[in-house]
Amino acid sequence: MAAISLAKVNKHYGSLHHAVKDVDLEIADKEFVALVGPSGCGKSTTLRMIAGLEDISSGEIRIGGKVVNNLAPRDRDVAMVFQNYALYQHMSVYDNLAFGLRNKKVPERDIKAAIDRAAEILGLHELLKRRPRQLSGGQQQRVALGRCLVRNPLVFLFDEPLSNLDAKLRAQMRVEIKRLHAQVPTTSVFVTHDQVEAMTLGDRVVVMRDGRVQQVGTPLTVYARPVNRFVAGFIGAPAMNFVEVTVGEGKVSAPDLDLAVSEPSGAALQRYRGRKVVLGMRPEHLVLGEIAGRSFEAAVEVVEQLGSEILLEARLGATRITVARVPAEASVASGDRLRLSVPPGRLHFFDPETDEAIAGS
Ligand code: ADP
Repeated sequence: MAAISLAKVNKHYGSLHHAVKDVDLEIADKEFVALVGPSGCGKSTTLRMIAGLEDISSGEIRIGGKVVNNLAPRDRDVAMVFQNYALYQHMSVYDNLAFGLRNKKVPERDIKAAIDRAAEILGLHELLKRRPRQLSGGQQQRVALGRCLVRNPLVFLFDEPLSNLDAKLRAQMRVEIKRLHAQVPTTSVFVTHDQVEAMTLGDRVVVMRDGRVQQVGTPLTVYARPVNRFVAGFIGAPAMNFVEVTVGEGKVSAPDLDLAVSEPSGAALQRYRGRKVVLGMRPEHLVLGEIAGRSFEAAVEVVEQLGSEILLEARLGATRITVARVPAEASVASGDRLRLSVPPGRLHFFDPETDEAIAGS
């Protein structure tokens, strides 16, 4: 059993930089958790504290129920996959895979069995005699995964392992990591700045900003019910549109916009009557055409034909908005004025001062 638990974990670099702030996190045994957030938000530091590569300034980290604050990395039984694969260039793939086990004086017969199993799972058999420089980036990353796998650790820690790969390979490796986790379910923490990677890999996603955890939830929860404007804007691509609106009786308004607000957010919005709030609408939820009480007009500025769909940049009053999922065959041109609608259940509202979610409609 290898649950991971972080309680009030803080990291200060010197007296000035508070990189990780009061992080509480419970990761279940065999769960795959993705830490995501913009560069500098503290996700690598959090991972490195779990690995034991950084000291903890305060708080407690447990792995498998055992407090590991003062345990050296090698005594934590974690395996880490880095962005730069950190393979030994002068050794064959086989020897790279064997290296850690030989250091632990594991018998060669057992090493061979572990490598055979990892090679089977990761498709490395043909590569075992090669040197790392004779491998593609994706193959090197697979060897790096294999090196973790042969150790059969309690926990896998991934630090942006795919960011050196091109987009196509990244998508392939994502699938391989998912398959690996299905075959060898091991508690995993995966750090990435890429929300698509986090959403596709994580059983749960932890969104961080400025050293703090903003929200922890399944991919669907953080997408459908973001707790604040930051999470709403960070998760989902293209990013959510935000428009400042004034709350009226059963509706919200802005220049060029009047949208009926239905229960339950109608009730939650009541305490904002006469005041401004921030309306959030995802680009993929905007549809062409009229839905009574839920439509507005926007001026098309840029048309991006993707073949499968059209992406639009449009202007709603003074605000630029993005519209996705317009049918590829639709005839839309720059300068057109379009009727757009938001189906029920697709509106988000945020407090303009705290940025906290008010309610959706
Ligand atoms: P992320 O992985 O989210 O990009 P990091 O955890 O690497 O962010 O860094 C969090 C913050 O801590 C950043 O502002 C970074 O500049 C700072 N930081 C990271 N490592 C050090 C260090 N060794 N000394 C001082 N500041 C650091």
